[in-house]
Amino acid sequence: MSEKLSPQTALLHSDYQAPAAFDALPVGIHHASTVLFPNVAAMRARNWKEKGGYTYGLHGTPTTFTLEARLAQIEGGRHCRVVPSGLAAIALVNFAILKAGDDVLLPENVYGPNRDQVVWLERDFGITARFYDPLVGSGIADLMQENTRLIWTEAPGSVSMEVSDVPAICAAARARGVLVAMDNTWSAGLAFKAFEHGVDIVMQALTKYQSGGSDVLMGAVITQDDELNHKIELAHMRLGFGVGMDDVYLVLRSLPSMRLRFDAHDSAAREIAQWLQQRPEISQVLHPALADCPGHLIWKRDFSGAGGLFSVIFDARYSEAQIDRFVDGLALFKIGFSWGGAHSLCVPYRMQAMRQSWPHRGGLVRFNIGLESVADLIADIAQSLDAANASE
Ligand SMILES: *Cc1c(COP(=O)(O)O)cnc(C)c1O
Repeated sequence: MSEKLSPQTALLHSDYQAPAAFDALPVGIHHASTVLFPNVAAMRARNWKEKGGYTYGLHGTPTTFTLEARLAQIEGGRHCRVVPSGLAAIALVNFAILKAGDDVLLPENVYGPNRDQVVWLERDFGITARFYDPLVGSGIADLMQENTRLIWTEAPGSVSMEVSDVPAICAAARARGVLVAMDNTWSAGLAFKAFEHGVDIVMQALTKYQSGGSDVLMGAVITQDDELNHKIELAHMRLGFGVGMDDVYLVLRSLPSMRLRFDAHDSAAREIAQWLQQRPEISQVLHPALADCPGHLIWKRDFSGAGGLFSVIFDARYSEAQIDRFVDGLALFKIGFSWGGAHSLCVPYRMQAMRQSWPHRGGLVRFNIGLESVADLIADIAQSLDAANASE
C-alpha cells in the first residue's frame, strides 16, 4: 500500500512490520493512548476489565501489566494496579471502598497526606474519619461502629515509628466484616508479608524503594480477592489514573536490585541508629529494631527487616533553632522529603503540631540512610552535632 501514498501520509502509514519474536531481558516500553484492534469484532470482544487483552492505554500496556504482575508477586498478592503516585494509590483505595455514610479508622501516625485526604472526605463527602492509637492492637474492636467500613494500618509510622500489631487489628476487623488496608511502603513488600498477616488491600509508594532513584513518582494497590480487585479496577477506570511508560520502565529497571539495596539500607541504618543511641545529645532513637522503640516486640515477631528510615529525639535541652542548625550543618545528608533512594536525607518534624498526644519534649529528626559509606555518614553526623553543641 505505501508505494502509492504521498510522502505526507507515508510518514504515518507504512507496510513495514518488525519481525516477531524479539527477545531480551528488559521489558519493552509500550507507549500508547490508542490501542489498535484488527477489526470491529475484536474491538467489541475485548473488555478493559480483563487483562487478557488491550483496549486503551489508560487501562494498561504490556509494560504496565508486567510491572503490576511483578509487584503482586513480591507482595504475595494476585492483582495489582499502578497509579501516578503513592498518594494516588491511597486515593484509589479510599474512593474504591468508602461511600457516604461510611466510617474509616486510621492510626494517629498515618502518612500525613492520607490524614488530610480523609479529613477532606469527611468534610465534603459525608464520611466519618476517626484516628486510633497505633499501639491499640486488638483494642481496635472497641472502636468499630456499625458503619465502619475500612481500617487503615501503617507499620511503622514513617515519622514516629511506632509498630502496630497488624495481625491483631486484622483479626478484630475480620470478625466484624471490616476491610483492612495497609500502607506497606516502609517494608517495600519485602520485610512484612501483609496478606499472610490478614491484610485485605496493600498500598505501596513505588516512589521509595521500588524506584530507588529519587526520580519517579508512582504507587500501587495490590489485592488477593477477585471481588475486591473488581472494586479497585472500577475506581481506577473511573478516576482515570494513567502512568507514563518511561516511568514504569524506570521502576522495572530498579526492581532487580531492590532486595540488595533494601538490605544495604537496613544494615547501614542499624549501625548508625546504634551509634546515635550512645550520643548524649539524643534522648531516644526511634528505630523498630531497637528495644526501646514503641512496638519493637511486634516488629521482632512480624518483620524480617527494617530498611533505611528511622527518627531520633533530641534531648529537651536542645532548642528548635539548635536542631535546625544541626540539620543545616550536615554535608552528606541532604534536606528533603521522601526516602528509599540512594542519597541520605534528613528532615526535622514539629511533632507537637502533628500529633495530639506526643510524649516527647525534645525535637524529632528523621533520617533516610542512603548507600554512602557508614563511616562517612557517622563522621558527618558527629561534626554537625559538635557544631550544634558549640552554638549552645
Ligand atoms: C511517600 C509515601 C507515600 C506517598 O507516596 P508519593 O508517591 O510521594 O505520593 C505514602 N505513604 C508513605 C508511608 C510514604 O512514605
